[in-house]
Amino acid sequence: MNTTRRLDEIPGWLIKNLPDRLSIKDKARVLAINSFGLTIVIVGVIYAAVFKVQNDDFMFWTCLGIAGLCIIPPALNYFHFYDFARMLYVFQAPIFVLFFASILGSALGVQYFFVILFGFPFIYFKPNEKKRTIWFFIYTIFCLLYFEFGGPVGMEEATFTPQMFVTMKITVLSLFILMSCILFFVFHQIIIKDEQKLVRIKYEMEKANQVKQEFLATMSHELRTPLNAVVTITNILEENPEHKDKYAFLKLLKQSSNNLLSIINDILDFSKLEANKMKLELRSLDIRQTITSIAETYRSMAEEKGLNLSINLDSGLSKHYKFDDVKLGQILGNLISNAIKFTNDGEVTMSVFKEETEGYFDVIRFEVADTGQGIAPEELEDIFESFSQIKSVLTRNTGGTGLGLAIVKRLLKLQKSDITVESAQGIGSKFYFKLRLKVSGKVSNQKNKEFAPVLNKKVLLVEDNTVNAMVAEKLLENWGLIIHKAENGQIALDKFASEVFDFVLMDLHMPIMDGFEAARAIREGDYPNRYLPIYALTADVMGEGNEEFNKYFDGFFTKPIQKEKLQHVLVETLSKKG
Ligand code: ADP
Repeated sequence: MNTTRRLDEIPGWLIKNLPDRLSIKDKARVLAINSFGLTIVIVGVIYAAVFKVQNDDFMFWTCLGIAGLCIIPPALNYFHFYDFARMLYVFQAPIFVLFFASILGSALGVQYFFVILFGFPFIYFKPNEKKRTIWFFIYTIFCLLYFEFGGPVGMEEATFTPQMFVTMKITVLSLFILMSCILFFVFHQIIIKDEQKLVRIKYEMEKANQVKQEFLATMSHELRTPLNAVVTITNILEENPEHKDKYAFLKLLKQSSNNLLSIINDILDFSKLEANKMKLELRSLDIRQTITSIAETYRSMAEEKGLNLSINLDSGLSKHYKFDDVKLGQILGNLISNAIKFTNDGEVTMSVFKEETEGYFDVIRFEVADTGQGIAPEELEDIFESFSQIKSVLTRNTGGTGLGLAIVKRLLKLQKSDITVESAQGIGSKFYFKLRLKVSGKVSNQKNKEFAPVLNKKVLLVEDNTVNAMVAEKLLENWGLIIHKAENGQIALDKFASEVFDFVLMDLHMPIMDGFEAARAIREGDYPNRYLPIYALTADVMGEGNEEFNKYFDGFFTKPIQKEKLQHVLVETLSKKG
């Protein structure tokens, strides 16, 4: 639904000079005041000229006076005194009614004109101007009573020749039509559009609510399935640690926890992408090696379903390109796992070929095709929406949070690309996208660094949750690091004062003193080692990319800790330290 439709019926040049801070309603008000004011000015001046010819000085000055008064609100608008112009206009209107009614007289039979004129100012009030509206109402009643019972003191009625009478009627009728148009336009902008907006907001809220319900249903389904395996297997192993199937159980445990992790990672990635916190990390890498290893990860999944997974790599591809292998892995991984998930027999093919060369860049096309169930034409557009598949959560036999393709689409957008899908039901689907990658000469060999630099290095692990602390400790100890634990920021500071560490891993949410405060105290304190690497551990994405956080932290790890990333960072930073 298009929520940005605004003032689209007004020609651009009319609102060109109006500042953006004015709301759509204010712009409509300014336009109405200007058009109505200027029309009265023109009419007033013409009438003044006619009365001048007739030597009727009184009417000449009266019409000229009205024209002069009516030019003031548009002039105020011109000088950006919008509110003042509005108020002045509102209080001028009853006086005009009085004047016109007094001068032109009832004989002219143009009361309907006055009725419109009279009702006109009400649209200039804002909903929060209740007091002014009441004052205006009282003031108008006073004007009307005065007109009805007091009479036009010091004024005489205009005398018209029959030709003038007709001209007058035509003019007033034209004004009447014009004002009706303005009224319609302003009402349309102010009231009808407002109502449309309300209806739209209501619809969107209902939809959001429905999506929330469906999201909760899917998530609880998706999380419960692997969790059920974890809980049951742990119970079995607790009762009988020497169970004959313990290795099979361990494999299942690993698989289930990986499933859980990938769901959580999907949610994290999605919220990171939505919050614009995801950044590209380009590395020079061997593209064939990367793509092959991404695809190979899914070979066993394909084989389990009896599917053939084939990889076609164009011989025209250069060996090395600069690209973000983690994000490419996520994109291709999502597409391949979907292809396998929705294909029961046949094959899944991944093809990568060079389309063209543009200077130092190659345009590379990535394609994942399957011979699966395909997607109905009416669903093609929806599948890239977040949580798109959940409509069928209770009936479908394939798992998934419905976030995969939404993440793929956003990850590609980050790389200024987009995904396209072609699909025929019962025949299969083909997803493809293009990336413009820079050809590069050398390879960043970051992943294969020696693991030796971390041996016996001292890590301060600041974490209040005992289970998380234990898991992280075991992981780090496994790599030969020496771990010192602190349960909150304050304890960490105390330890920091008496001990020299090589690396700090800091949870952010902790009682007594949180991770942010502790990192700041370390950086700003008087410690000889205060510039050591401090990495944050967080379960949300809000700290990342935040300037305040970047001032004190060298980087972020999201929970659960990605083993490879932590390993890589440790090797990188600790080998730099020597
Ligand atoms: P999930 O895989 O978690 O269901 P995705 O966002 O990855 O969520 O996919 C959304 C929906 O698009 C899927 O539920 C499925 O209906 C459809 N879909 C995606 N890929 C394929 C495919 N290769 N073949 C058929 N349908 C697909």
